[in-house]
Amino acid sequence: MSERQVTEHVDAVVVGAGHAGLAASHFLGRHSIDHVVLERGEVANSWRHERWDSLRLLTPNWLSRLPDHPYDGPDPDGYMSAVEVAGHIESFAARSQAPVRTGTAVTSLRRTDGGYDVVTGGGTVRTRAVVIASGACNVATVPSFASAVPEQVHQVTTFDYRSPDQLPEGGVLVVGASATGVQLAAELRRTGRPVTLSVGEHVRLPRTYRGRDVLWWMDASGVWDERYDQVDDLGRARRLPSPQLVGTPERTTLDLNALTELGVEVVGRWAALRDGRALFSGGLRNVFSLADLKLQRLLDNYDGWALANGLDGELDAPERLPPTRVPAATRLQLDLTSGEIGTVVWATGYRPDYSWLDVPVVDDKGRLRHDGGVVDSPGLYALGLPVLRRRKSTFIHGIEDDAREVVDHLAGYLAK
Ligand SMILES: Cc1cc2nc3c(=O)[nH]c(=O)nc-3n(C[C@H](O)[C@H](O)[C@H](O)COP(=O)(O)OP(=O)(O)OC[C@H]3O[C@@H](n4cnc5c(N)ncnc54)[C@H](O)[C@@H]3O)c2cc1C
Repeated sequence: MSERQVTEHVDAVVVGAGHAGLAASHFLGRHSIDHVVLERGEVANSWRHERWDSLRLLTPNWLSRLPDHPYDGPDPDGYMSAVEVAGHIESFAARSQAPVRTGTAVTSLRRTDGGYDVVTGGGTVRTRAVVIASGACNVATVPSFASAVPEQVHQVTTFDYRSPDQLPEGGVLVVGASATGVQLAAELRRTGRPVTLSVGEHVRLPRTYRGRDVLWWMDASGVWDERYDQVDDLGRARRLPSPQLVGTPERTTLDLNALTELGVEVVGRWAALRDGRALFSGGLRNVFSLADLKLQRLLDNYDGWALANGLDGELDAPERLPPTRVPAATRLQLDLTSGEIGTVVWATGYRPDYSWLDVPVVDDKGRLRHDGGVVDSPGLYALGLPVLRRRKSTFIHGIEDDAREVVDHLAGYLAK
């Protein structure tokens, strides 16, 4: 790109004005680094436009702290709606006076001699450093056989799903039993529809344990602070599904037992599609035992930690959930041409979209090559990816430590 086409020079550019990009901006400001935050939509765009209507955070309000911007509302133990999260992030942007340019999509990022050209519809910004904070959840991942689902069955991903009344009449097959899948299965079942939930590997958690929110334990015991370079199997930790949790005022547990009590039918992982039939894996008993075992281990660790830290007396007595009930008989296939299922809801996860990134730093699985957010190209950084620097990296409260350290590195790079 010739110098004439460059419309602006800054020391650093942040791509994305979600909480991660804004946290980067906060620390860039502290280092007095001249920068802009480029956002294709609005501040907190994903919370405004990519979440279903009833969504509430899994994390309690007191935990939704951002740098110098704690939650200070009236309900610290409650769980924010998506609109409230957007408000919380918007006020963080205002408080830290982030130089955000909304409606500015980055369509290409290219390497130059001394840094990068960031191409947008409104011109090209030449910069020495870039923080990619464009999100880990830009696109829904669905299995390739989704394209062969019979036409009469309506399909939605969790990006398109808003509420039950948007779906055609009839039964719903929800695929995926992480936080999103269990929440949508419960919501749809409560409207009286027949709901089948396809369950693979999952993380079972009670909403509260010994009188405290289960995420208080993660925070207080330091589980979430474990660093990426200390995690045993980092690849696996980065792919871990979100826990089966929902944020409601009653603080109820939403595990598979709760769902079967509601009348949701549980089947195994959707493994293949043949002649219009969904084929599910058997072996639910093993999948359930594994989740129960991991839960047991986690709670044992919490109990050990409470004892070692002299907290045992302050907390309710240890308790255990009953094992996940294995249905007497589970279906191994479902005929999608029979009319039983009107809709398939894909709650099978998300992936980032780096289609705009013209720097060779993405591997063949679509993942950014980085070491703790320091991307494999000088002056290029990332924030907001799973276990980027700590187990808590993708959570709202997890951004502060990561952003501080990544921006410290960036400042050192610029100072060289
Ligand atoms: C369904 C769901 C529920 C979640 N619940 C919780 C929870 O309970 N608690 C919790 O702590 N975390 C939760 N998270 C995790 C995390 O907090 C969110 O994913 C959060 O949105 C991540 O923030 P971010 O800033 O990294 O990315 P995003 O919020 O996705 O922000 C990225 C921004 O970049 C912009 N962008 C992308 N590409 C470009 C481009 N090319 N040019 C310009 N702008 C671009 C987007 O428009 C977006 O505004 C949840 C995530 C999901 C998906």
